Amino acid sequence: MRYDEFYRQSIEQPERFWGEQARLIHWDTPPQQILDQSNPPFRRWFVGGTTNLCYNAVDRHLAERGEQLALVAISSETNTTQEVSYHELYREVNRFAAVLQSLGVGQGDRVVIYMPNMAEAVYAMLACARIGAIHSVVFGGFAAHNLALRIDDAEPKLLICADAGMRGGKVIAYKPLVDAALAESSCPPPHVLIVDRQLDPQLTRVPGRDLDYARLRAQHMDAEVPVTWLESNEPSYLLYTSGTTGKPKGIQRDVGGYAVAMALSIRAIFDIAPGQVMFSTSDVGWAVGHSYNVYGPLIGGATALLYEGLPTHPDPGIWWQLCEKYRVRTMFSSPTAIRVLKKQDASWLKKYDLSQLKWLFLAGEPLDEPTAHWITDGLGVPVIDNYWQTETGWPAITLMPGLELKPVKWGSPGLPAPGYRMKVINEVTGAEAATGEKGVLVFVPPLPPGCLSTVWRDDARYVHSYFSHFSELLYSSLDWAIRDADGYTNILGRTDDVINVAGHRLGTREIEESVASHPAVAEAAVVGVHDELKGQVPVVFATLKQGITESNASVARGMQQCVVDQLGGVARPARVYVVNALPKTRSGKLLRRSLQALVQQTDPGDLSTLDDPAALEDIRRALSRGPEQGA
Ligand code: AMP
Repeated sequence: MRYDEFYRQSIEQPERFWGEQARLIHWDTPPQQILDQSNPPFRRWFVGGTTNLCYNAVDRHLAERGEQLALVAISSETNTTQEVSYHELYREVNRFAAVLQSLGVGQGDRVVIYMPNMAEAVYAMLACARIGAIHSVVFGGFAAHNLALRIDDAEPKLLICADAGMRGGKVIAYKPLVDAALAESSCPPPHVLIVDRQLDPQLTRVPGRDLDYARLRAQHMDAEVPVTWLESNEPSYLLYTSGTTGKPKGIQRDVGGYAVAMALSIRAIFDIAPGQVMFSTSDVGWAVGHSYNVYGPLIGGATALLYEGLPTHPDPGIWWQLCEKYRVRTMFSSPTAIRVLKKQDASWLKKYDLSQLKWLFLAGEPLDEPTAHWITDGLGVPVIDNYWQTETGWPAITLMPGLELKPVKWGSPGLPAPGYRMKVINEVTGAEAATGEKGVLVFVPPLPPGCLSTVWRDDARYVHSYFSHFSELLYSSLDWAIRDADGYTNILGRTDDVINVAGHRLGTREIEESVASHPAVAEAAVVGVHDELKGQVPVVFATLKQGITESNASVARGMQQCVVDQLGGVARPARVYVVNALPKTRSGKLLRRSLQALVQQTDPGDLSTLDDPAALEDIRRALSRGPEQGA
């Protein structure tokens, strides 16, 4: 079926459309009702149906493709490659599930997973899914405070971590971060399960609390753990993401809707059939990592390539070498990663036989045209920009080459994916924006299967964060957008205080809180500023407390360290300016957008509400002086 017809059916006859798509997965009990919209903006897909993500990702393929590769975990850091067939994956997942059960983990319990891109992270996720436990994978680049916030919200029964990760040949110990997070947490789990790759010779264990996965695994080598069938709308996993407050939101995903969205998208969007190979370079700690490093390809009976390491190490040809070796058909990465490669010689793109590679999907941040051209020309394959959010779990705006390749339009991720009924709304009037007019991108409920079902234990926050912006009940994406006459949408950046650093979503509030924890800081404002490589970087403006004798440069370095220690290196402020006052409205609201405009030398907008015009002058002076030395 062609795209237009496929999309039209998904919108005009959602129950019929999704009822058909539901057949792509295995149900232990078939759904009784395809869509329940009786309590908007909540919606429930495939009500009464029981299924299991692990069964669909592993067991279902054993008869037909047990010996086929399910997972290839390659680390250019540890110089290891693990080629895992579906049969072996089944064995490892059962062992892991048995270990979880032996630690008292069962249906509905949360399990925090803090690991890099390694095979055991995939086993752990699937093992949780198998027994109905809810996993919450925390990105390994996040530091102790970020981890503690997520632990406190999820209240896990168990935390699983690696001893360490590696980056560019340098060992990054995870365990001390776990220890610090648990010390800070108000509800630390009783056990920490360590998958020890022996990267950290200083690894310490807390007796009684910390357990060694290898030892426990050895006790369950032949384990067969029955699948726990879950009603379609039970939670499958949590994935925390930044919002406008300092507290991250626990995006809650369901079981059946997500499985169907994965089965549909891997085929129709990513053009991957059973037996073909998908290489997603994301980290398992992000939304793309969940969906297209793990669940999508496995539910689709494909081979998932999982890569730990930099795109430039041991050399900038490593990804293309892997594409040749494993005959990758679809690759998925981010614009930032391609910009990193763009700094290298383009001949690396031509060194390997990429005749099997059909598509390069890029997502997570705006794709600039020079980067898109460079990589398209270099690889000779179409580049598919696609737009989504942690909340959606799969692309909302994309082209669908698995059905039909519509023309690529530079600067636009394309057209709505099935089930996404979209509008662009004028922020002030709430009316639909005209073609070519900028507005807020919204989705008309019901959100399609795969999108978040709620915010973990906080339905009110779900409604307030996403559905309270317009008089009509609409999901606000919190992104600016423009639609052209052909229905292609361009994304123009966030409407809220979220910034996007190298495809990583960070809340400016979180960074401000961290900076303000420095004892010399009175108040801090953080804005995202354009950066050639990373898209945006955080920039800090801070006022200091009275009587601070330490030099500004030293305090600035201290602020950066606070952020690295508490939130992780991804959030490290690129520049710090110490100022006398921050620009605020008379009611005390920080004018972040004006501040951002001043840094980027664009129009600072309406300043009539500004309380103290001297604050602006002060910022201008600071900018012309330059950031604090050494920071
Ligand atoms: P995350 O939840 O981390 O996936 O971040 C989601 C945000 O990233 C969106 O709200 C957008 O602001 C941005 N984003 C994701 N994909 C794209 C894209 N293809 N083009 C432009 N912005 C994007």
